Amino acid sequence: MLLQRIFRAVIMGPPGSGKGTVSGRIVKSFGLMHLSSGDLLRANIKAKTELGLLMKSCIDQGQLVPDDVISRLILTEMRNIDQSSWLLDGFPRTVSQAESLDNVYSVDTVINLDVPYQTIKQRLTSRWLHLPSGRVYNIDFNPPKIAGLDDVTGEPLIQRDDDTPETVIRRLKAYENQTQPVLEYYRSKGVLKTFSGTETNQIWPHIQAFLSKKLSPQN
Ligand code: AMP
Repeated sequence: MLLQRIFRAVIMGPPGSGKGTVSGRIVKSFGLMHLSSGDLLRANIKAKTELGLLMKSCIDQGQLVPDDVISRLILTEMRNIDQSSWLLDGFPRTVSQAESLDNVYSVDTVINLDVPYQTIKQRLTSRWLHLPSGRVYNIDFNPPKIAGLDDVTGEPLIQRDDDTPETVIRRLKAYENQTQPVLEYYRSKGVLKTFSGTETNQIWPHIQAFLSKKLSPQN
């Protein structure tokens, strides 16, 4: 679908709610640019930048990195895509971050993935990644064709350092305390749209229909 005007969206949901997978599908179906704060931080860690080295222990422990650090990182990166329609994934995660974003861009839609905590805990600890591409597998419901290897490249899969059970609980707590207020923030602005379910494949058609309508030239 061709976009008629610049469309700015945020995707939210607890860690493991399927944000990465849904984002990939949105990007593919609607041609938005995708910016993930977690990917950006992991790229910094991999490249051993000063910022990456400073933030690594925070991330490995499942804590949020400081608002000013992440806001500066994301807003700088966004300058490269500000003439395009975009989808932000993982940012903003606090009300202060949402305000920093608001100072520069107004968000058209916030897609909120509402997935039960029990589902998420199980999902996160069985999640495997192909780091270079960001492809995500799950040993329970989306396993690779050959165990431990990426379907496309055949390269080895890894488990994220912060996908251990204790860290997962800490990340969910951070979500509850710091990120849920952001949902309220966007709800009060009238841009929040929540999609509930336990399976990405079950939620996706609703998101697709919603965005098709939202992005149709009549709107
Ligand atoms: P994610 O891949 O989005 O789950 O992010 C992985 C980790 O990066 C999080 O657990 C945080 O430690 C850090 N992180 C990512 N985005 C943010 C953000 N917007 N604010 C603070 N920390 C973040």
